[in-house]
Amino acid sequence: MSLVTITINNQTIRIEEGSSILQAARQGGFDIPTLCHADHLKPFTSCFICAVKVHGGRDALVPSCAALVREGMIVTVEDPELEASRRMAINLLLSDHCGDCQSPCQNACPSNIDIEGFLALIREGKIAEAARLIREQAPFPGILGRICPRPCEEVCRRQRVDEPIAICSMKRYIADAELEHFGSPQLPRPGRPTGKRVAIVGAGPAGMSAAYYLRLAGHQVRVFEQRPASGGMLRYGIPYYRLPEETLKTEMDAVAALGVELCFGVTVGTHIAAKDLDQDFDALILGIGAQGAIPLGIPGEELPGVWPGIGYLEAVAERNPPALGDRVVVVGGGNTAIDCARTVLRQGKGRTQVTILYRRGREEMPAQDAEIAEALHEGVTIAYRTAPMEILQEGEDLIITLSRMELTAPDASGRRSPVPVPGSAYPMRVSAVLAALGQQALPDLARDLGIETTRSGTIKVDPRTFQTGRPGIFACGDCQSGAATAVQAVGNGRKTAYSVDQYLSGLPVTGEPVLFNSSMGPLKDLSTELFTGYTQAKRVGMPVISDEERRTTDKEVETGVEPALAVKEAARCLSCGCDAQKDCKLRRYAARYQGDQGRFGPPASGGRRGYRLDKSHEKIKLEVHKCINCGACVRACAEIKGLNVLTYINRGFTTRIHVPFGRSLVDTACDGCGECTKVCPTAGIMPQRTGTAI
Ligand code: FAD
Repeated sequence: MSLVTITINNQTIRIEEGSSILQAARQGGFDIPTLCHADHLKPFTSCFICAVKVHGGRDALVPSCAALVREGMIVTVEDPELEASRRMAINLLLSDHCGDCQSPCQNACPSNIDIEGFLALIREGKIAEAARLIREQAPFPGILGRICPRPCEEVCRRQRVDEPIAICSMKRYIADAELEHFGSPQLPRPGRPTGKRVAIVGAGPAGMSAAYYLRLAGHQVRVFEQRPASGGMLRYGIPYYRLPEETLKTEMDAVAALGVELCFGVTVGTHIAAKDLDQDFDALILGIGAQGAIPLGIPGEELPGVWPGIGYLEAVAERNPPALGDRVVVVGGGNTAIDCARTVLRQGKGRTQVTILYRRGREEMPAQDAEIAEALHEGVTIAYRTAPMEILQEGEDLIITLSRMELTAPDASGRRSPVPVPGSAYPMRVSAVLAALGQQALPDLARDLGIETTRSGTIKVDPRTFQTGRPGIFACGDCQSGAATAVQAVGNGRKTAYSVDQYLSGLPVTGEPVLFNSSMGPLKDLSTELFTGYTQAKRVGMPVISDEERRTTDKEVETGVEPALAVKEAARCLSCGCDAQKDCKLRRYAARYQGDQGRFGPPASGGRRGYRLDKSHEKIKLEVHKCINCGACVRACAEIKGLNVLTYINRGFTTRIHVPFGRSLVDTACDGCGECTKVCPTAGIMPQRTGTAI
C-alpha cells in the first residue's frame, strides 16, 4: 500500500493511504480524545469530540476517526477553537448524562474520604485496608470518627430508603479495630529523603495533616507549637468525653513516629521570628488556627468570674479547671457553647445548674443537633431568644441582666437580626459566666511575614493551592478559613502538602488535581424509582455510658460499635458511586476540558434522561441513565457477534439505546460476552458487580 504525507500541527507524518486522521495523529504522538470510537469497530462520529481542523477551503472541523488522510493535507489537532469545540461536545453529552461519578457522601466530605470504599472493605472484614484507604485522604480516622459533624450523612442516599448510614461510627470502628488488632495505627513509610525542609507553625489537625503527607513525600518536617502537646483545638477545645486523650495521643504520636520533628512550647512571633523560619526553611506553612475568643462586648465582661469559653475548656483539658460555682450561664449557640455547658456539668458532678443563653431560636442554633440533644438529655437548660446586656458583681455572685430578643424584619439580604424586646430586661443571679461566642483568627503572624489577611483576620491564599501571596509560604486550617471543622482542616492540610511538594519539586504550584463529578442531583429531587426494592434495615445505634457516669466523669460517652453490627451497617450502603469512576472517559475529558454539566441545561425535549437500570442479566448491567448514545455497544454487538441485542429507540432528543420493545437484557440473545462493556466510554453498560445496590 502506498504512503501519503500529511502535516499535523507543523509535524510531517507519513502514513499508509486509507488511514484516518486519528491514526495519523496517534502515530505523531498527538493525544486526540475519543468517546464513540473503538479501533476494531466502524467509525460512527456521534460524539464529535475527536474533531480536528483540516485546512484549505473553509478550514472545516471534521471527525478525525472517520476522515481519511489525503496527500498534502494540513491538519491542526490542538488549538483554542478545537478546545472550545471539544468542551461544547462534552457539555452537550453531560447535559443528558444522569449519574454520579463519586458517591454524594464522598463529594460532601471536606477531606474527600472514599466512604463507599471503606464501607465495602468493612463488609469484607478488611480492616487494615480500610484504614489505609481512609489515610490516603485523612490521617486521623479515630479522631474524625468521633467528632466529625458528618456532612456526609446529611446527603446519604440511604435516608430515602430508611435512615442514613452511620458513616462516622464506621470510620471510628475501623480505627478502633485496627488499634485492637495491630496495637498501633499502621502507617505507610516516609518517601525517599528529598533533602528539603519544611517548617509548620501549629500542631493542630491542619498542621499535623500537612506534616503527615509531607513526610510521606520524603521531606523533612519541623512543627513549632506554642502549647505543650499536639492536637490544637482537638486537645484544648473538644472535651475528653467526646474525644479521649488516648485516641488523640495515639493518632498524633503516629505522625511524630513518621519522623516529624515536634518543637513544643515555642511561640512563633515571640520565641522565634516567623521571618527566620521563612529564611531557614525551604517552605513555610501556617496552621495556627483561630485562637482569639470573640468577646461578649457588654459592660462587666472583665469581671472575675467571667471566662472565655475556650480558656475554660483549655484549663479543663490541662486538668486545672477554675471553680465556677453552682449556677453557671454559657453565652452562645455553637458547639463551643455546648461543650462548655456539658463540661461544667461534669466538673460540678451533675450538681451545677447550667443555662445556655442564645439570642435566636432553636432552629437557628449553629451547634449540631445531636450535640444539642445530648446537652438537653444531660440536664443543661437552654434559654432561647435571650441575650446578656450587662454583668455586675454582687458579693460572691454575678448579676447578669438578660433581655428577651426578637427578630427584625428581613434586611436586603433576607437576614433577620435579633434585637432586645423593649422593657423585657430582667436580672439573673449566677456564680460564673462563660463567653462562648466562637473563635476568630489572629492576624499577627501574617502581618510579621507581610502576608495579606482579610477583614476578619484570616490569611488570604489561592483557594486551590493554599499558597499565600508570597511564594513558598502557605496557610491552611482555621487561620485561613475562619473557625470551621476538623475534617476541613485535615483535608486542607493534605491539599497544602500537595502544593508544597510541587513547590519544592520546582513544579508549577497548581494544587491537587480537581476531578470532575457528575451528579444525579440533590437528594430530594431524585426519582423514587431509585430507592425501590430495598429491605428496610435500621441504622446501627451507638452504645453510650450510663447517665450517672456522664454527669460525674469525663469518660467517653460513646463506646463504639461491635464488629458484627459494623458489618451489618456497612451492608446498608447503596454504593451510589459509579463503577467506572476511575476509568470513565467522559469524566476524564470533562476534567480535561473543564466540562460544565449545567452549561446547556437538560435537552430541549424538556427533561434530562431519567434513572433506568436493567440488572436482569447475570453478567451485564445496563444503566440507561448514564448512556451518552455513542452507539459503540450497538455496533460491537452487531459487528462482532452479529446480534442486535441493543438498538436505538425513538428519534431526536429522546433517542435512547436499549433492548428493543422495552424488554429486559435477560430476555434477549445476549450471552454476556462483554464486548459491549469493553467499548462503553462511561458506565452505561458494565459487567455486573456483585453485592451492590445501584
Ligand atoms: P487549631 O486546632 O486551632 O490548631 C492550631 C495550633 O496552632 C494550636 O495548637 C495553637 O496552639 C498553635 N499556634 C497558634 N499560634 C501559634 C504560634 N504563634 N506559634 C506556635 N503555635 C501556634 N470541629 C469538628 O470537626 N467537630 C467538633 O466537634 C468540633 N468541636 C469543637 C469544639 C470546640 C470547643 C472548638 C474550639 C472547636 C471545635 N471544632 C470542632 C473545630 C476544630 O477543632 C477546628 O476547626 C480545628 O481544630 C482547626 O484546626 P487548625 O489546625 O486549623 O487549628
